[in-house]
Amino acid sequence: MSFEITFDCPLPHGIHARPASVLEEVCQPFQAAIYLENRRNGQRASLRSVLALISADVLYNDPCKIVISGDDADVAHTRIEQFINQEFAHCDDALVEAFAAPSTVLPRSLGAGEPQYICATSVSSGIAEGKPVFLGQLQLAEHLQQLSGQGKEQEWQKLSKAIHDVAQQLQTELDALPAQTLAWQVLKAHLSMVEDAELYQQLQAAIVNSDVSQSPSAAQAIVTTLSYFQRRLACSANAYLQERVLDIQDISARLLRRLYGDDAVLAVQELTEPSVVIAANLTPSDFIKLEGNNLKALVLESGGTTSHTVILARASGIPVLVGAKAASGFCAAGSNVIVDAELGLLIRNANTAVTNYYQMEYDKQRRLERRYSVFKKQAAHTRDQHTLEVAANIVSARESAPAFDAGADGIGLFRTEMLFMDRNTAPCEQEQFDCYRQVLEAAGQAPVIIRTFDVGGDKPIGYLPIGTEENPFLGYRAVRTYPQFIELFCMQLRALVRAARYGNLRVMVPMISCVEEMRWVRETYQQVVTELQQSGESIAPIQLGMMLEVPSAAFAVKQLAKYADFFSIGSNDLAQYFLACDRGNKRLSDLYSNYHPPFIRLLQQTVDEIHSAGSWVGLCGEMAGDHSLLPLLVGLGFDEISMAAPSIARSKAAVAQLDYSTCQTLVQQAIACSDISGVKQCLVDFRRRSVDRAVLDDQLIISAATVHSKALVIKALADNLWLQNRIEDAAAVEEALWQREEVFSTGLGFGIAIPHCKSDKVINNSISLMRLNTPVDWGAADGKLVDTVFMLTIRDSDAGDAHMKIFAQLARKIIHKPFRETLKACADNATLLAFLNEQLELE
Ligand code: PEP
Ligand code: MG
Repeated sequence: MSFEITFDCPLPHGIHARPASVLEEVCQPFQAAIYLENRRNGQRASLRSVLALISADVLYNDPCKIVISGDDADVAHTRIEQFINQEFAHCDDALVEAFAAPSTVLPRSLGAGEPQYICATSVSSGIAEGKPVFLGQLQLAEHLQQLSGQGKEQEWQKLSKAIHDVAQQLQTELDALPAQTLAWQVLKAHLSMVEDAELYQQLQAAIVNSDVSQSPSAAQAIVTTLSYFQRRLACSANAYLQERVLDIQDISARLLRRLYGDDAVLAVQELTEPSVVIAANLTPSDFIKLEGNNLKALVLESGGTTSHTVILARASGIPVLVGAKAASGFCAAGSNVIVDAELGLLIRNANTAVTNYYQMEYDKQRRLERRYSVFKKQAAHTRDQHTLEVAANIVSARESAPAFDAGADGIGLFRTEMLFMDRNTAPCEQEQFDCYRQVLEAAGQAPVIIRTFDVGGDKPIGYLPIGTEENPFLGYRAVRTYPQFIELFCMQLRALVRAARYGNLRVMVPMISCVEEMRWVRETYQQVVTELQQSGESIAPIQLGMMLEVPSAAFAVKQLAKYADFFSIGSNDLAQYFLACDRGNKRLSDLYSNYHPPFIRLLQQTVDEIHSAGSWVGLCGEMAGDHSLLPLLVGLGFDEISMAAPSIARSKAAVAQLDYSTCQTLVQQAIACSDISGVKQCLVDFRRRSVDRAVLDDQLIISAATVHSKALVIKALADNLWLQNRIEDAAAVEEALWQREEVFSTGLGFGIAIPHCKSDKVINNSISLMRLNTPVDWGAADGKLVDTVFMLTIRDSDAGDAHMKIFAQLARKIIHKPFRETLKACADNATLLAFLNEQLELE
């Protein structure tokens, strides 16, 4: 039986990679032969080949026909027709640009050095420098460029064998890698490309269809095919698709090396000194080869943010810039380059002023790292000894070890559905077991909460026929689908239960909304355990808990606690369902907030009920990593908060500054507020109260400093305030100070300057003091260089003229020679502090 579906292509950019791969995924579960015909140009393509679909050159409004025939053609027809009618038009919605646009406004302290720079987009933060190393596109070795073929048949035989060998080689490499690591995923994608029918046909055509007189070599056929796909993909408006060129380039290089040896293509050079790699594009496997101690940063001229190379580079933690147009030409004239992925800058030929600026930046990074690293190995406890665990959220096994290095007390949420996505079939029990074991082993005895697969909603999975729903978030999601996918659920439970003996495992089920569901989960789990025991498996103790993310569950805690050993609040969904507000709808972003007083009240009631039931409760939604909410989370009494690993040390450091009892009071104040802004104000007031410190302390005095300019002195003092947590944003305060300087120089004479500002970025009013080894030009009224700088930073919201009072006092004092002489004579910071406290009337 055969079926047909006709339609005009509704996609503005035609069928490019993304729609093609979605179509391919839709067709995966079926056995039927499924072809698409572009009736404009007569091109025909299998819906199982992404490359073939792309090559059918389906453009906007092209009339198309899908023909389905074979065994399960009727079921396939229903699903595909539904997809074409309801989902297809939306499957190429623009890729979200996840990263900030290039910045062009330089901080004054950097701008003053007049750096030579180009702007680019930062996709992985940090600052690094090194020798620029340029890597080109794939290039055939010279001896292969003119190589003539030995006849069509022979060349094709060689090439088809190479395709087969490369596929095998990729499979072997895959088998050697831990499943689901990033490198594994990249190789897996390459394997499916090598096996793609369209690639195969193009390679074959490049030899077989060639002019008889030409007799192309396999090498030329590879290059021809590569440029065919390059042309096809490059004209796509879809960034994701353009970046697949790199993957095809990578495969081409493998084929060439297989056929002609390692010298067939320009080899990636070894980095022998600290280097910044600059390339138009870089293939993922070339990146893997480069990765190591000497790779300090990566700059790509292409603009893509979703390429595998970018994903790999980001995971390796080096700064990365993309869209750095003409970077090669720009850097060719530089002996050393700086990649500033904080500001999105590529800088060459840094002069002394620019180098000095970056020395300060490195120093700031080191100080910050030092300050937080103290907390990594400590439990988080408040000043009044209330303790809570700070755990990490992860989506893959490879993230677990780095999470513990970052200070995690445990894994609070492992979202396992990522293991099930972007593939054609579910991971088997062994693959899952290996993955869970890897996480548990990385954790040692620390607790690991692994969540069973949370599919549906915004996480569709091609091979699970969930279907299209009007309200997917309110529909067939997570635990609700388990009875249908019972084998998959039981397989995951088996893998988890078997892995449990490698650590401290807790299993958690998403989207429980009522007791019936949790009871069913408990029974199913018990059955799995019994079966495993019967087959001789020894079972380690495991807690079975639930996510509390549906409001109805918050009102059935006591009953649920009979079946759930613990709870973890998924605030992302809990807020979405509580507020009837789609968590992904940008138009509702003001409404979708964790700061609503009723939401905080719901959390308080839920945490209290869970504790009254004698159970344990964590928080694993994004809210847990919101630094400004931390006092509320502590006050609410969570046993654990779980967040992205990089936020952990900072959160632990912040907990150490809090008092549990005052945080509890804060919760009551927040609940009593009438709206979001009231809660926010409450938090700001709390922060100011709780970190209220003296205007001047020894951390604010920097003596014997070697700083080379007025701009850098201001930067250094602003950075120090930021590191002391006295201001929220160093760049903003630096700018506010400069706005004053522009009106008049604060170099008041006698070698003393008093820069000052009022800013809403100031948390604590502060007087900073720097004594310089070498005086700097401040544009002072008396023309003297400045060696002593008092800097006043005052809260914008402070009523009255607090800063003017301090300013006037200082100005009066410095006129007097004895004051200046004593100031100079103070040998150390303690003496200086005592002298200033005595001289100035500081409240
Ligand atoms: C949540 O809903 O808060 C949660 C952690 O789960 P997810 O974001 O994966 O839905
Ligand atoms: Mg959720």
